[in-house]
Amino acid sequence: MALFKKKAKYIRINPNRALTENLNKKKPDVPEEMFAKCPSCKRMIYNRDLGAEKICPDCHYNFRITAWERLSLIVDEKSFEEWDNDLKSKDPLNFPDYQEKLAKTQKVTGLDEAVLTGVATISGEKVALGIMDSNFIMGSMGTIVGEKITRLFEKACKQSLPVVLFTASGGARMQEGIMSLMQMAKISAAVKRHSDLGNLYISVLTDPTTGGVTASFAMEGDIILAEPQALIGFAGRRVIEQTMKTQLPEDFQKAEFLLSHGFVDTIVPRIAMKEQLFKILLIHKRNE
Ligand SMILES: [Zn+2]
Repeated sequence: MALFKKKAKYIRINPNRALTENLNKKKPDVPEEMFAKCPSCKRMIYNRDLGAEKICPDCHYNFRITAWERLSLIVDEKSFEEWDNDLKSKDPLNFPDYQEKLAKTQKVTGLDEAVLTGVATISGEKVALGIMDSNFIMGSMGTIVGEKITRLFEKACKQSLPVVLFTASGGARMQEGIMSLMQMAKISAAVKRHSDLGNLYISVLTDPTTGGVTASFAMEGDIILAEPQALIGFAGRRVIEQTMKTQLPEDFQKAEFLLSHGFVDTIVPRIAMKEQLFKILLIHKRNE
């Protein structure tokens, strides 16, 4: 029988040493792809909880997705036939590092340019389809983006097809200067010709749709849809605040703000987009 209680075991901890040891420890090896931070509510979310549609389960923000992901969510399987993927951007201004940037982006995104165009069916309805991708030099509009979208409308004219165009862009491509800005007028003229023939054009504004794209074809749709919480605007918030010397509302340039001010017809969550597009296409189907 023990006369004395055993001494409780304890370890002396030098708080300074413990801190240094922790700092020297390698960070846990968590694969980057496992989590995503929601840009809207700032929560860390398991990637698998975002689902194929990439929607935040907490605040329902629709994450930015690639043109290829968008394609798989919108069109019928194996129905997409790509147009004009042989067009390649030139470097008209000999802009420093532009060609290297293009080559690198093409490799990473699997896209030739910041827009993917072609023909496809949406629940059986044939459409001319364009999808911009903000991962490609911020979805900026250079000469090839402009040319591909113009041809999209021109081919849709020839085939009497409605156009569905998903926009995502930081605006004109600065590396191509004035040639980029020209695309606004060129595409707008093609949109007008398509419209004059009585064809339907649905534009879908996704996060972010800004600059020259907003100032032209994004806002020229017969029906303008937007994804929830998408940033939609022309000039940046800071530029406007500094120029106008005024404080802007918190939700300024969000899809919901634009809806309440009449710039957008309706906001459609990504999960319901295909169905919504199908319904609109059916209503406006031409009987010829
Ligand atoms: Zn969120």
